[in-house]
Amino acid sequence: MDCIFCKIADGTIPSKKVYEDDLIIAFHDIQPQTPVHIVIIPKQHIESMNGITTENSHIIAHIFEVIPQIAGENHLNGGYRIVSNCGKDGGQTVFHLHFHLMGGKKLNVAMG
Ligand code: AMP
Ligand code: ZN
Repeated sequence: MDCIFCKIADGTIPSKKVYEDDLIIAFHDIQPQTPVHIVIIPKQHIESMNGITTENSHIIAHIFEVIPQIAGENHLNGGYRIVSNCGKDGGQTVFHLHFHLMGGKKLNVAMG
């Protein structure tokens, strides 16, 4: 499968990694929209939030358990935002489930 995030997960494509364990990997976004912009992905290919199931939801729970640690290590002490774009209309461009961890400044509330 030609999936850029699967290739980042298996190391075929290099990334600026900030966290990795058996289930997930986090790396700096190549086109940061905020001073700190990290992408967190399951190593297993899940297409989007619509692909979350009873079998794989523990990986998503694990991502959310680790987010405070990644945020802390990247000095997001004032807070941060988690975004996941789902599908074409949601603005998803890479069809491997991922969560944007954004911060490093006071973010605007604007959505849509
Ligand atoms: P989305 O538009 O929500 O699907 O987010 C995809 C994100 O992946 C965008 O913010 C891209 O800048 C980012 N991205 C794409 N390719 C890479 C890459 N090779 N390394 C790091 N981030 C990437
Ligand atoms: Zn993938």
